[in-house]
Amino acid sequence: MSKRLTTTAGAPLPSNEHSLTAGQRGPVLMQDYQLLEKLAHQNRERIPERTVHAKGWGAFGALTITKDISRYSCAKIFSEVGKRTEVLARWSTVAGEAGAADAERDVRGFSLKFYTEDGNWDMVGNNTPVFFVRDAYKFPDFIHTQKRHPATNLRSPEAMFDFWAGQPESVHQVTILMSDRGIPKNPAHMNGYGSHTYSMWNAEGERFWVKFHFKTQQGHDFHTAEEAETLIGKTRESYQEDLYAMLEEGRYPKWTFCIQVMSEEDVAKQGFNPFDLTKVWPHGDFPLIEVGELEINRNPENYFMYVENAAFSPSNVVPGIGFSPDKMLQARVFSYADAHRYRLGTHYEALPANAPKAAPATHNYHKDGGMRFFPPNTGHPDAYYEPNQLAEAARADGTVAEPPLRIDGDAARYDQADPDADYVQVRALVMEVMDEDERARLYRNMGGAMAPCSDSVKERWFEVLRRVHPDYEAGVRKVVASAPGDTNALPVTEDTPLGVREPAE
Ligand code: NDP
Repeated sequence: MSKRLTTTAGAPLPSNEHSLTAGQRGPVLMQDYQLLEKLAHQNRERIPERTVHAKGWGAFGALTITKDISRYSCAKIFSEVGKRTEVLARWSTVAGEAGAADAERDVRGFSLKFYTEDGNWDMVGNNTPVFFVRDAYKFPDFIHTQKRHPATNLRSPEAMFDFWAGQPESVHQVTILMSDRGIPKNPAHMNGYGSHTYSMWNAEGERFWVKFHFKTQQGHDFHTAEEAETLIGKTRESYQEDLYAMLEEGRYPKWTFCIQVMSEEDVAKQGFNPFDLTKVWPHGDFPLIEVGELEINRNPENYFMYVENAAFSPSNVVPGIGFSPDKMLQARVFSYADAHRYRLGTHYEALPANAPKAAPATHNYHKDGGMRFFPPNTGHPDAYYEPNQLAEAARADGTVAEPPLRIDGDAARYDQADPDADYVQVRALVMEVMDEDERARLYRNMGGAMAPCSDSVKERWFEVLRRVHPDYEAGVRKVVASAPGDTNALPVTEDTPLGVREPAE
């Protein structure tokens, strides 16, 4: 027998088609609460979309530990080889709105929520090992350039390249964005990186700096700009289609989870700042150490409940995993949780996607607030404050305290001291890692993207590319020269600032 349709309060409905009217011709009676409730719910079906990473695809899976790394971390997730921990993954584009096409050129978010015994550990990364800026002060401005112009409501290449030209630290990430990795075929064919430097500590209280890498076992695969354009003309949902079908058909994508490790003493020996999010740690100096295998194998039964409501935050670490002095990471520890409180509400961590799964789940003295639909769970009904005299009440556990983080130096607003440091790694990527065909596609993609910009922005960006390598500048210049320009671009005048900003000494 089918179920009875009810109101949200459980009262059975006599009809789901005909409103309550005075006679055949209406009007509708105010007391038709069942109709009012239905309409009111429709008005509330949308929640604020994420300011960034609005378009996403998600699924469940598990991380299995394949190698012992207990010498670096006492986190329970790594405690034994063979240990499996359930994972919720969400991948996303950054700039597009919730309805944006999946196969657009953009950085991809690569977020993982590990439901560990000690609470949730969130690895909120990207498919790139670096980022556009190294200081959170620049983040809102950067995102404004990726979003719509306030007057035209259009995306603006002029704004993007103007900003990047003024922030040469961006050129590493812009190069990756314009390379083949700028349009992965779907989430299975891309790597994930924690990008920031994090830390781990072991049972002896020794701290190590670490980078997280999830290397695709499906191999890298990508769409060229032309292929993506054709594909988007046919479907805007290519990632969702691929991912959903892959999991329904039992073709489970996998990634090898690796870390790079740097001792506290080695930080001072590097020619670059290991806490700068625009830099990688060279594999030659810091080889990848295998940790485990991530397998994604289950579509969520409800997209909104588990993917739209998923709230990943770098602030979610567990004992044995910690932060680093990375300025961007420190800011994200604030801003992600803050964004979720705004978007989902005070108790967003209690939603099914976000609630820790291991018992005992959560015990704290936070009280009340919107959507408080779960009991206080402090261990005793009289324990709604602390300190208290109740033996059963939840208490802090000093044994999970992090080893002291050594901090020294004078407080100031620093930038990088070495003006060439922003170009060294991207030079290696373009001139040594990429082959000739990849370089040609990079030049074509970048030249095409900047073609609509004004001459002043083009020249400032060429100067950044020249600092990376003269061949890089020449290659992109050639493409731009043959591409149609933008007749709406601002004219170059004597007052137009040319040249990149010199980093502060
Ligand atoms: P390696 O030769 O050991 O590593 C090069 C890396 O580049 C590989 O991990 C490869 O990924 C990756 N790669 C290849 N093509 C691209 C692309 N189009 N966009 C982004 N990454 C790409 O050299 P190093 O470690 O000395 O690094 C050299 C440069 O490679 C760096 O300056 C950086 O730009 C880039 N890189 C370095 C990474 C690192 O963590 N060291 C990570 C990613 C990029 P894969 O293994 O998947 O083929």
